[in-house]
Amino acid sequence: MNATAFAQTLHGQKGHEVHLPRNRMLIGGEWIESAEGQCINVEDPATAEIFTRVPAGSAEDIDRAVSAARKAFESASWARMRPLDRGKIIENIARKIEEHAGELALLESYDNGKAVHHALAVDVPAAVDIFRYMAGWTSKIGGQVNPISGDGQQYHSYSVREPVGVVGQIVPWNYPLAMAAWKIAPALAAGCTIVLKPSELTPLTALRLAELALEAGLPEGVLNVVTGYGQDAGQALVEHRGVDKIAFTGSTRVGKQIVRTAADDLKRVTLELGGKSPSLIFADADLEKATLGAALAIFFNSGQVCLAASRLFVERSVYDQVVEGIAKVAQGFKLGHGRDPDTMLGPLVSRAQQIRVLDYIEQGRQCGAEVVTGGGTGGKDGYFVEPTIFSNPDRDASIVREEIFGPVLVATPFDDVEEVVKAANDTHYGLAANIWTRDLSRAHLTARQLQAGVVWINTHGMNDPSAPFGGVKESGWGREVGEEGLLHYTETKTVTALLGE
Ligand code: NAD
Repeated sequence: MNATAFAQTLHGQKGHEVHLPRNRMLIGGEWIESAEGQCINVEDPATAEIFTRVPAGSAEDIDRAVSAARKAFESASWARMRPLDRGKIIENIARKIEEHAGELALLESYDNGKAVHHALAVDVPAAVDIFRYMAGWTSKIGGQVNPISGDGQQYHSYSVREPVGVVGQIVPWNYPLAMAAWKIAPALAAGCTIVLKPSELTPLTALRLAELALEAGLPEGVLNVVTGYGQDAGQALVEHRGVDKIAFTGSTRVGKQIVRTAADDLKRVTLELGGKSPSLIFADADLEKATLGAALAIFFNSGQVCLAASRLFVERSVYDQVVEGIAKVAQGFKLGHGRDPDTMLGPLVSRAQQIRVLDYIEQGRQCGAEVVTGGGTGGKDGYFVEPTIFSNPDRDASIVREEIFGPVLVATPFDDVEEVVKAANDTHYGLAANIWTRDLSRAHLTARQLQAGVVWINTHGMNDPSAPFGGVKESGWGREVGEEGLLHYTETKTVTALLGE
């Protein structure tokens, strides 16, 4: 079905335009309304205007989508397709995303608030890359021959990787297209079929991606997108007995709830959760690069990044210089509408998120931490928050302990490696960290001691489809992307045959 049949057209710069599927979601290859007829208003966070709506999916819609995914899984159409042909379709999806890059970036900007040029530079290429990378894996998921000792008789034993089955995937609102792509591409490469639930705040690019996937040749029912609220559609997906695995990206709070629910039928679960990642800057670092790097590590995407380095530790001798430098960078960021080409930081995604972040800033003030810069909304309509830096907060303050998911940095000086490693690890989270120093041996030794799933040295945020990503401690279970991410969508089957004496 052509989305333009029920489209409203939005326009952006450079002639980009986007057609919105109105109040429809994709189940079994059909664009349908929700069974209960409820819908969700979709808002532009830069203007607070409602510009379209999507269905508020219910348990009944989830059931329909799971049935469609099961039917597609059991037919020969996907899991048993020639691996090279499956890879070709996944590669076609990458190409489709590339062809529609401008449209997808504009849609992401309307939905999430981020600058179109950032979506074009980061979000869309990330989606293209993961499909292209995973396309190559379809023909490389092998197995092994097991050299079993047995009982003196002759055996042939081998293990193969099979697709886990029907996968429920739940994604957040900060990188809606890229997060959906990181989930969908490996599941498709492994031969799984999918019910994806995007965030109720940013459902549009996932719908458009699913439509492009159909155009790329993906059989109907392999990828179903049910829009809806977490407590309704999301919860129903996790509870559904027809779902073999849940892959979740979102908050640690909801991740824990998912684990409790999935315990009922012991579904497979992988979790990409929150973070409170540290930046460690040593005095011998290239301070210009470290200053800019640490500023971008927290403020990019207005701090709405799971791997945001929201805790800054700087060696005491250069502390004032670095904090001042980051403040200068922060003050230079132009806040604005995502469709303005000069915008460097867009609004936060929603009024609720803005209130939440401003509330944390108030708590920071009340606990006596010094506000180096920011702290307000920048005097703009829309859900803006200025990049904000606190210096020397109490180590037990909420701004130090809790994930804020906004443009708020807490800075603390340190005197030696032992002290900074202890402080950096003093958190329930363990997603990412970065280290800035010219002493490579210290960099690698420090990396070994940090409790984090990902450590960057003299850089931050360099994600790649080949590099496993995920967290330790309360930042998650399992890894996304890379071979390890792919294998989370498979189960190992061992087959052992008695050959004789
Ligand atoms: P969230 O946990 O509120 O929601 C995430 C998704 O879960 C949404 O689609 C939501 O509708 C759904 N959901 C909510 N309640 C549910 C329930 N009971 N059952 C099933 N699904 C439910 O998170 P958010 O506010 O959308 O996103 C921000 C969070 O995501 C932050 O904590 C951030 O760190 C995390 N995140 C992590 C990564 C990572 O890779 N580790 C990446 C991006 C975001």
